[in-house]
Amino acid sequence: MRILLVEDEERLSHFIKKGLVEQGFAVDQAYDGEEGLYLAKEETYDLIVLDVMLPKLSGIELCKQLREIKTETPILVLTARSEIEDRVEGLDSGADDYLTKPFVFAELKSRINALIRRSYRQVSNLLTLSDLEVNPIKHTVTRAGKLIKITPKEFAILELLLRRKHEVVTRTQVIEHVWDYNFESLSNVVDVFMGTLRKKIDKGYKIPLIHTLHGVGYMATDKKPKA
Ligand code: CA
Repeated sequence: MRILLVEDEERLSHFIKKGLVEQGFAVDQAYDGEEGLYLAKEETYDLIVLDVMLPKLSGIELCKQLREIKTETPILVLTARSEIEDRVEGLDSGADDYLTKPFVFAELKSRINALIRRSYRQVSNLLTLSDLEVNPIKHTVTRAGKLIKITPKEFAILELLLRRKHEVVTRTQVIEHVWDYNFESLSNVVDVFMGTLRKKIDKGYKIPLIHTLHGVGYMATDKKPKA
């Protein structure tokens, strides 16, 4: 899952990014409202984390402008403790949730997970397919009850495929949701990741769950994949 972080306090921004990258998220940073608006319009994000007090364009204004152009990406607003009006204004301007500064990282993480789950219309935190279970909160993967060791990037790809199970996910969509702005998309790195992921998930099991549809994309399904 890919997140746009719009926060002008550099130390806080780095702290948040570091934590999220460790959780397997891809994170792009913007340090003012205009840069944030530009990236939100040009790129694809699963969530936007937005500070209210920003140079050039406030978080509230940015939020309003995105909703005016019908951007549906969930937005989590960060406000200072005393700014009750900010919270109300933030929600009124189209934000989906807010978090008051200072916050502990665990709370930010669980709110982000809840917003993403809602935007993919999922009721449970657990993503399942046949005997495969993926837990985005605990970051665990099991198949037939057996724990599978997986890297953060592999986890991110698997999470995306499972959130859209039985649907084709194109290579471009994998890149957009799993890697950040600096990713060099000409390389075959997605295919390499997909190869190791398939080995880890499917090797030794009768029903393959991770499929490559040549020239089309990828699909997580326990049925015969059809593009
Ligand atoms: Ca600020």
